[in-house]
Amino acid sequence: MPTPAAPAIDGATHLHSGKVRDLYELPDGRLLMVASDRISAFDYVLDTTIPDKGEILTRMSLWWFEQLADLVPHHVLSTDVPEAVRGRAVICERLEMYPVECVARGYLTGTGLLDYRASGEVCGIALPAGLEDGSRLPSPIFTPAAKAALGEHDENVSYDAVVATVGADVAASLRELTLEVYARAEEIARGRGIILADTKLELGHRSDPSTGSGQRGTIVLADEVLTPDSSRFWPADGWHPGRTQPSYDKQIVRNWLLSPASGWDRASGEPPPPLPEPVIEHTRARYLEAYETLTGLPW
Ligand code: ATP
Ligand code: MG
Repeated sequence: MPTPAAPAIDGATHLHSGKVRDLYELPDGRLLMVASDRISAFDYVLDTTIPDKGEILTRMSLWWFEQLADLVPHHVLSTDVPEAVRGRAVICERLEMYPVECVARGYLTGTGLLDYRASGEVCGIALPAGLEDGSRLPSPIFTPAAKAALGEHDENVSYDAVVATVGADVAASLRELTLEVYARAEEIARGRGIILADTKLELGHRSDPSTGSGQRGTIVLADEVLTPDSSRFWPADGWHPGRTQPSYDKQIVRNWLLSPASGWDRASGEPPPPLPEPVIEHTRARYLEAYETLTGLPW
């Protein structure tokens, strides 16, 4: 799949584009992370954009970084960004990223459910029998994944594989921080009638000398956090294990793409068709609702 085109920004050098975000370097070495209005589904970047999505997710991440600030330092340095990307970009410190998608799950669904059905385990963690789609786990678990190339699925890996990649000390810190962040966020969301089923964090480290054991620098929370693109948020009053849960994310898009109305055959290998206006509007409204409900702030 081709990398999406990133707009040129005066005075910034384009470094990388993912499915949704464009990363630039500023002359002083800091990074500019821009959240576009692109949306991905089934590992495709769609041709259609969702108006304001980048700004909604940027504001939501900033809000969460503050809620978590006493648990873990975050990478945001400033929101004073070039005019062209105002509201949907942050300036952040450049970190050495750990090549691990740090996932915490409190509920079973998605690839976790698939792995569980195949083996009774997720990432090497044995789970009790009889769990269904959406079941609450006995306690939240760390289910790391290896980052896949653009267009590929991230792959769940065992904790031992993380130890082999980053060492035992760092692996333990990543697991602990991920579970702490999940616990805090789950509690906040629950207070607002939302279940945080799972979330994916990306952590990196500074190049300062370590204060703890080993030679690494301070571990810092990076990327975006606790947005509907990185997490599953479910309205608590719609939670019924045993089926797909209603969700504050791209479910509207996925459902439409899989419906006969879209005319798209997922197995065909063809990219998905453009989204019709009502699906765009509905999806935008859903992102806004997630923002307002979680943060308690009006858009
Ligand atoms: P995708 O998420 O679409 O699968 P991706 O993760 O490569 O692909 P994005 O999430 O759009 O792309 O882009 C963000 C990129 O920036 C990621 O590679 C992420 O690891 C990296 N990143 C985020 N924060 C920092 C940081 N503070 N320092 C260095 N790299 C960072
Ligand atoms: Mg990413």
